[in-house]
Amino acid sequence: GRVDLARAASDVVDAVSVISRERGVTIRANLGQGGATVTGDRDEIVQVIQNLVDNALKYSSSGGVVELSIDRGRTLDEAMAARMPEGTRLSLETPDREAGLKYAVVTVRDHGPGMAREHLPRLTERFYRVEGQKSGERQGTGLGLAIVRHIIIRHRGGLSVDSALGQGAIFAACFPLAPARELDPSGGAGS
Ligand code: ATP
Ligand code: MG
Repeated sequence: GRVDLARAASDVVDAVSVISRERGVTIRANLGQGGATVTGDRDEIVQVIQNLVDNALKYSSSGGVVELSIDRGRTLDEAMAARMPEGTRLSLETPDREAGLKYAVVTVRDHGPGMAREHLPRLTERFYRVEGQKSGERQGTGLGLAIVRHIIIRHRGGLSVDSALGQGAIFAACFPLAPARELDPSGGAGS
């Protein structure tokens, strides 16, 4: 179906509002001007955003800020553009380049501990968790990003991470924009 990415993201922000308040983390959402309609399964796309936001909240300390934004990239390269200095970014999943395809991107940034470069290629492996991050409340099974990757692949989307130790993390997931709806003033076929 057609999924409004900004609306999906806003649902996630609502869903985590209690958790973020409890953790003392502020979510700053910049959901854009609208028009980021992608083709896909709404529940699965919500799950992608939810997993990325969950991680960002989990690895932020109290008083921290998580930034969530939606952009309409014109091309794949723009959609997946690096946000941190050179050398911190890794593409975890790159879609086949289809000529002329345009993308919308969800970016989730936190200012937590970040990760050393060596961990980045393994983040989407099932059960992979980075050692040595203060554990305690930061528990999990290591499945979240593996699920994210599978959903991204099914949607012919992309996933990238920017991170370095002490620099926080930026995860970007992109999805192909849905084709513009044909204007049908008669309101004829379909809805
Ligand atoms: P689950 O999502 O299944 O509850 P999890 O959060 O540990 O468990 P993933 O979401 O797959 O698993 O993430 C894998 C690992 O990547 C995490 O355990 C953590 O070490 C690291 N990681 C993921 N996101 C971040 C982040 N924003 N900042 C720092 N480390 C992260
Ligand atoms: Mg997780």
